[in-house]
Amino acid sequence: MHPDISAFEPFSYTPRKAPAFPARPPFWTFRLEHKMTTKNRKKIYEGKAKILYEGPEPGTLVQYFKDDATAFNGEKKAQLEGKGVINNRISEFVMTKLNNIGVQNHFIKRLNLREQLIREVEIVPLEVVCRNVVAGSMAKRFGLPEGQQLPRSIIEFYYKNDALNDPLVTEEHITAFNWANTQEIDDILATTLRVNDFLSGMFAAVGITLVDFKIEYGRLFEGDFSRVILADEVSPDSCRLWDSTSGEKLDKDRFRRDMGNVIESYTEVAKRLGIMGDMPRVIEGGAQ
Ligand code: C5P
Repeated sequence: MHPDISAFEPFSYTPRKAPAFPARPPFWTFRLEHKMTTKNRKKIYEGKAKILYEGPEPGTLVQYFKDDATAFNGEKKAQLEGKGVINNRISEFVMTKLNNIGVQNHFIKRLNLREQLIREVEIVPLEVVCRNVVAGSMAKRFGLPEGQQLPRSIIEFYYKNDALNDPLVTEEHITAFNWANTQEIDDILATTLRVNDFLSGMFAAVGITLVDFKIEYGRLFEGDFSRVILADEVSPDSCRLWDSTSGEKLDKDRFRRDMGNVIESYTEVAKRLGIMGDMPRVIEGGAQ
């Protein structure tokens, strides 16, 4: 329906023509876009789920989201068609929301289905885990039942080192080995709690419990000074997300525990966040 523009007479109103091209890009578009952005770009780093390429400007990088899924420090591997596309979009959504409430992060803009432009930072070699409910390694370590509500949110630090299996570390280790200084640790703790509060509310509003998540930080240099900002990604790969009513898992545990319907669950998260509308057919029709 066209809007009622009678109030705007005498201006004439020409109804918009239907676009010549389909509103959604055809499934092959991302291939072309991928070629356009990463062609001739230098690969800086390849991780388990993402690749970093040099960016178009100094101080920028292009972060490419792969379909590769890994668990147990790379022991279990699979290709999950469309995962990279969904995680790119979910991470864009979350990082943009966090930026809007003043949580600075590395995200600049999404470039295409699998890539985003980010600020280049020096990654702090820590995986920062925040937990609201007992699950995963915490349940195992303390012999607690999964699903037990924690009396307060708990933040843990793990040293980012695959060869050592990312060991749990304390603030003493972090400062003694110069992985971060005390000011940086304070900033990381305060920011992580803020991220947790915001994301818990955001997911609760769409019927999802944020059980726990892992985030990473990087140093952004400005002259002689640096500050730590949020980096990496926030997606169902790095969060535990349970349906608030049924308790159904909507995250990477479905892959880790061979529960099936991994992509369907990630898609459900995107749907509830209201961002499936601009997601390409690549998800439903099989990613290329
Ligand atoms: O396995 P664990 O219970 O310690 O994981 C806590 C949270 O951190 C989970 O949401 C998990 O998905 C995330 N995580 C991650 N990358 C890792 C380890 C944990 O994203 N290497």
